Amino acid sequence: MANESNNFQELISHCKEYGYIFQSSELYDGLSAVYDYGQLGAQLKKNLRDAWWKSMTQLHDNIVGIDAAIFMHPTVWKASGHVDNFSDPMIDNKDSNKRYRVDHLIEAYAETLDETKGKAILAEMDRLLAADDLSGLKQLIEQHQIKCAISKTCNWTDVRQFNLMFSTQIGSVAEEADTIYLRPETAQGIFVNFLNVQKTGRMKIPFGIAQTGKAFRNEIVARQFIFRMREFEQMEMQFFVRPGTQMEWYNYWKETRKKWHESIGIPAEKLRFHNHIKLAHYADAALDIEFEFPFGWKELEGIHSRTDFDLTQHATYSKKKIQYFDNDLNEEGKAYGNYTPFVVETSVGLDRLFLTVMSLAYAEEKWTKEDGTEDSRVVLRIPTALAPTKLAILPLLKKDGLPEIARELLDECKPHFHCFYEEKDAIGKRYRRMDAIGTPFCVTIDHQTKEDQTVTIRYRDSMLQERMPMSKVKDMILEKIDT
Ligand code: ATP
Repeated sequence: MANESNNFQELISHCKEYGYIFQSSELYDGLSAVYDYGQLGAQLKKNLRDAWWKSMTQLHDNIVGIDAAIFMHPTVWKASGHVDNFSDPMIDNKDSNKRYRVDHLIEAYAETLDETKGKAILAEMDRLLAADDLSGLKQLIEQHQIKCAISKTCNWTDVRQFNLMFSTQIGSVAEEADTIYLRPETAQGIFVNFLNVQKTGRMKIPFGIAQTGKAFRNEIVARQFIFRMREFEQMEMQFFVRPGTQMEWYNYWKETRKKWHESIGIPAEKLRFHNHIKLAHYADAALDIEFEFPFGWKELEGIHSRTDFDLTQHATYSKKKIQYFDNDLNEEGKAYGNYTPFVVETSVGLDRLFLTVMSLAYAEEKWTKEDGTEDSRVVLRIPTALAPTKLAILPLLKKDGLPEIARELLDECKPHFHCFYEEKDAIGKRYRRMDAIGTPFCVTIDHQTKEDQTVTIRYRDSMLQERMPMSKVKDMILEKIDT
């Protein structure tokens, strides 16, 4: 294409205009950092979730999937460390009353500096964060005269820790009710079911447990559309391994997950690893797989070597034994072993993956036609396997028996993949609408179809059109979905 641009604000409007994403409770002016997926968004999200689920639970014969509840016993979060540690350092500006996450405030400032100075301040920030040095962080902000974007002053409170978990009550009467939390990660549902799954599934180490589901975090700085939400969906897999082998598996999953992202169409040069300096309380190694979003390189997925922290903690708090009896150690000539497995976790945000796919797909294109006039379109180049609608079936006219033939094709295809049928409007207009929602194929039924049973197939990405037998359409698309 002669001229392409990729604009984030326009992508956001496009998502709304075409039924991908709506602000939650928009009727009531919306709820901050909460979003609803519309008719196309829900399908794209499902396709992404299904692709992940298949890659984990079908293509790996030693990974099984579960679906644990969002509500969990409150002690789970005490044992996991979330009650005491799941917090971010925050600072308030006294003039605007605006609250900032300290790392975001410093990162935004670093972006305004030249590269060397920017890197230096970020390195200092990482050091202070790693040391939990809250007053040092405040000094760093004051020393650099970092200002609030609203009040433009440096009148800051002290830096404080702010817990990100939402709490609510379970039980019918308020006095009897117990405080419970909305899970901030899906992982704990896997840890507390480790023995259930291992025993009932006769799983042998190394093996994994995967799950997808909602997680909730009271993010203070919720911004960048669906990148940082208060209610979001995670796709996590905990891989249980022998103690001492965790780094081997950490490296394996690091590479495997990056390759998976590439396999769904994310270009390798748009992905990179970022090693953590400050490790979470449970980790002995951690990294992010970052994607170059329209607003910069940011975390898409986390890979964490979580040691035996979680299982040990749950054993301590529940006073139950959570161990694995390793028969294979005996076969290898070593003594029978009872041990607490180590865990390597892969954790990707489904909404961030959605945003990744959409930001790669969205393109505004302009070109000059053969007759010298200008033309343009907005297109979502979503990979065929992921696109919410695969095929649009468009009778050229609403008469002469063309709709009947079109509906025959629809009946043949719809058990296999999602189709869209439309009779209204000029064909060019219908093609443009399909481009805008990312439908990779359009088939037009015209008078020639009645004579020779061929249709015109139009390809979204190249806009090329060709005739093909109607009887071949379904298999051609099935083949593309499978690749
Ligand atoms: P960040 O540093 O961006 O806050 P995190 O390190 O806290 O993320 P993890 O706890 O590792 O994130 O969660 C695993 C994944 O869940 C992240 O890689 C991200 O894709 C997703 N995720 C985390 N928080 C959010 C959120 N508020 N909104 C959307 N997705 C999220």
